[in-house]
Amino acid sequence: MTHVALTADFFWQDGAWRAGDRALGVSAGRFAAAAHGERAGRFVLPGMPNLHSHAFQRAMAGLAERRGPGEDSFWTWRETMYAFAEAIDPDDLKAIATQLYVEMVKAGYTQVCEFHYLHHGPRGVPYADPATMSLALMEAAKEAGIGLTLLPVLYMTGGFDGRPLTERQQRFRHDVGAFVRLLERLAPLQNDMFTLGIALHSLRAVPEDAMRALLATGIARDLPVHIHVAEQIGEVQDCLAARGARPVEWLLDHADVDARWTLVHATHMTPHETDRLAKSGAVAGICPTTEANLGDGLFPLAAFIDAGGTFGIGSDSHISVSPVEELRWLEYGQRLLTRHRNVAARVPEGSVGTALWQRALDGGARASGAAVGSLFEGSRADLLVLDDRSPLLAARDEADVIDSFLFAGNTPLVRDVMVGGEWRVRDFAHAAEASVASAYRGVVEKLAAA
Ligand SMILES: [Zn+2]
Repeated sequence: MTHVALTADFFWQDGAWRAGDRALGVSAGRFAAAAHGERAGRFVLPGMPNLHSHAFQRAMAGLAERRGPGEDSFWTWRETMYAFAEAIDPDDLKAIATQLYVEMVKAGYTQVCEFHYLHHGPRGVPYADPATMSLALMEAAKEAGIGLTLLPVLYMTGGFDGRPLTERQQRFRHDVGAFVRLLERLAPLQNDMFTLGIALHSLRAVPEDAMRALLATGIARDLPVHIHVAEQIGEVQDCLAARGARPVEWLLDHADVDARWTLVHATHMTPHETDRLAKSGAVAGICPTTEANLGDGLFPLAAFIDAGGTFGIGSDSHISVSPVEELRWLEYGQRLLTRHRNVAARVPEGSVGTALWQRALDGGARASGAAVGSLFEGSRADLLVLDDRSPLLAARDEADVIDSFLFAGNTPLVRDVMVGGEWRVRDFAHAAEASVASAYRGVVEKLAAA
């Protein structure tokens, strides 16, 4: 393993800049003590975990933006997505995911939680190795040099009434037994760059008894658990009709929701649900650009923060691949809603950028189940070096550099990226990006012609 040691004017530690009077060492892929080092730049901060991704959707970004004959909604978008998902084979998935993950690393994401439901071949015929699609995602993460939390998704029914999956949804289907066998196949492969978790697709896709059966298995007991919840008003209405409770409320009442859990979206909550979710210790997985793109609604951020809630960010459908844009829109949505400024900051004179970056690091690290999200010794050695030659950072000192990073335009400021102790991006370039983009282009052209 590479042994390096770095210096900088400032290192980000727990929501504040620490003057770089000590070097930051790297040993066996993790941060360690060091006395001297090579200068990395002025500002070095932890890489951001991306807590929600459906990698294959990267290739359909921009293809669902035309008005249809009726009212366009999440559900019409989903039809476009299903048609697209039908055609993807393991090599396609690997090429698409590698391109996406390279984009993520260049943007400053150093860990991705992949909410993976495209398990089987067309019409639901399993591959000879049921982990084939999972392995394609693992290879993609390895090639791009991003840490992966793989969340195989349990997806069983097409609605709260237990209706069977449609033909297009057959690629997603498991029963609990087959799903546990997939987890058992993947668990031994874990290492510093690969963490296994589990996902329940949603309350409408996993019957209550199946949820209980899975969560009671030995293998599921300690893994991170993610679930889509309360993204859409229609889902809230269906859940109320079928189970007599709103989705977040029902989940809090029927599962031991704690810090192991990530509730993705959790957009539509009452004040009481918001408070209960915050106090549960679970992470709210907010995906601002996708939620905006799909017309989902706005997360109750201020109330959730006031109640002590933990959140992180995800790029979900990948219509944008940038922690800067996710955090910016998380804040801007709240400003538009409340007609106030600086919503995420909690103390007078507090920096919004600092609050957002640190909270998303904490929530993202918790959601990913990996030792990431900080520059402390023992954490995996993931870091970003900001471009101190950029005009956007001229005359910015440590008090306002994060605000300028998040709120001062669209020129990338992430110059160098280290993940797991290895430089993956130097001077804005990823070593594999040309070949990865070429493979991606080939796959997208093939899919478009199909
Ligand atoms: Zn999702």
